[in-house]
Amino acid sequence: MRKRTFSGGTHPPECKYTENKKIEVLPPPDLVTIPLHQHTGAPSEPLVKKGDPVKVGTKIGEARGFISATIHSSISGKVKEVGECIHPVTGAYAQAVIIEGDGEDAWDESVKSTDSYRDHEPQQLVEMVKEAGIVGLGGAAFPTHVKLSPPKEKPIDTCILNGAECEPYLTSDHRLMLERTKDIVEGGKLILKALGCKRGFIGIEANKPDAVSAFESIPKSENPFEVAPLEVKYPQGQEHYIIDAIVHREIPSGGLPMDIGVLVQNVGTALAIFEAIRFGRPLIQRVVTVTGSAIGEPKNVLARIGTPFSTLFEACGGLKTVPRKIIMGGPMMGIAVFTDQVPVVKGTSGIVVLDEKDAKQFVEEPCIRCARCVDACPMKLLPTTIGDFARLGMLEDAERTGIMDCKECGTCSYVCPSRRNLVHYMKSGKARIFEERRKKKSA
Ligand code: SF4
Ligand code: SF4
Repeated sequence: MRKRTFSGGTHPPECKYTENKKIEVLPPPDLVTIPLHQHTGAPSEPLVKKGDPVKVGTKIGEARGFISATIHSSISGKVKEVGECIHPVTGAYAQAVIIEGDGEDAWDESVKSTDSYRDHEPQQLVEMVKEAGIVGLGGAAFPTHVKLSPPKEKPIDTCILNGAECEPYLTSDHRLMLERTKDIVEGGKLILKALGCKRGFIGIEANKPDAVSAFESIPKSENPFEVAPLEVKYPQGQEHYIIDAIVHREIPSGGLPMDIGVLVQNVGTALAIFEAIRFGRPLIQRVVTVTGSAIGEPKNVLARIGTPFSTLFEACGGLKTVPRKIIMGGPMMGIAVFTDQVPVVKGTSGIVVLDEKDAKQFVEEPCIRCARCVDACPMKLLPTTIGDFARLGMLEDAERTGIMDCKECGTCSYVCPSRRNLVHYMKSGKARIFEERRKKKSA
């Protein structure tokens, strides 16, 4: 099997404890807390108020602006409050719709399936994806209808379904690729149609040979996607590197995949598109890998959006010990949360709960100029130099040396023997540069 890849990167231990665990469907919870901002772009406007009855799939938040996504109720019941919750991504309070369930699990009348789902015109498909509130399910949560609407001067000739799942611990995409293979391909075909694109690949890391076989076993007449086995290496699943590995094109600095005629969609997103177009189901649930040394029984679960993390822990055998760290997403790019009362959002690909032993805290040591971070950076940056510029507030120098090209993959921090918080310096430096730009614009 020829395995494609990119230069740089690293090989963290895989820890894929749940790869053989079938997806378990969780019952609808008694109460959900659904943030109105679960995507890149502007938060949604609430469409409901306290006391309103809702069903599964009732629209409760309207997208505000082009880069935004609609939000739907994930259970049936009554709106308890349009209030606030701690957001799992920002850690700050955010507007949310809190819904008390009625136990009926009744779907909204607007949710209708159709057998003739392949007949829709491209523009209709994009509209339906928009109405379903679909965002990238790989973690970035970029609104999918925007990705499916490239400007005319940037036609897409290649679509890549991303099944790399290179983050340690996470296996939700792997299970979907085994359990929903044909539906992912159907979703992929709808993406090709929406874009008027003929060429498709599905990129899968070679540590998932069963997923490679599952897609290869579909007759070519029914599957336009060529399977591209990828070397097992972090961060193989990021857009830049999966494109480089499969079609050898480089996204220009500050650019997007559409600038080089490519669209990348996570396999879970392709499935969500199929569910929306075929069954009329908006995005109200997702598969979450719940794992780590502090979890009683690591599993992959299908959970409603808005379910508290604590409910997922209970469904996974409870906590074995007081957790030292709870991470939403994988350990390389995920976000640490400080409470288990935050809700599952559309971008929650996994929850990794680590005990004292696995979540060691390190003291930063001085740089020893070993250049490991430079060799490993897949963006070919100088993390140690740029990190210092950012740390010292030398933002112009940080920008000049390429901080804005940093993908925040964490590879540099991972390989650093001095345990320097390089990715933290990159992130905070970028945030300050964005803030400066915003101030200049509004001045
Ligand atoms: S976090 Fe940024 S600087 Fe560090 S390895 Fe990734 S892309 Fe390079
Ligand atoms: S890996 Fe760490 S110690 Fe080595 S050059 Fe980079 S920052 Fe310095």
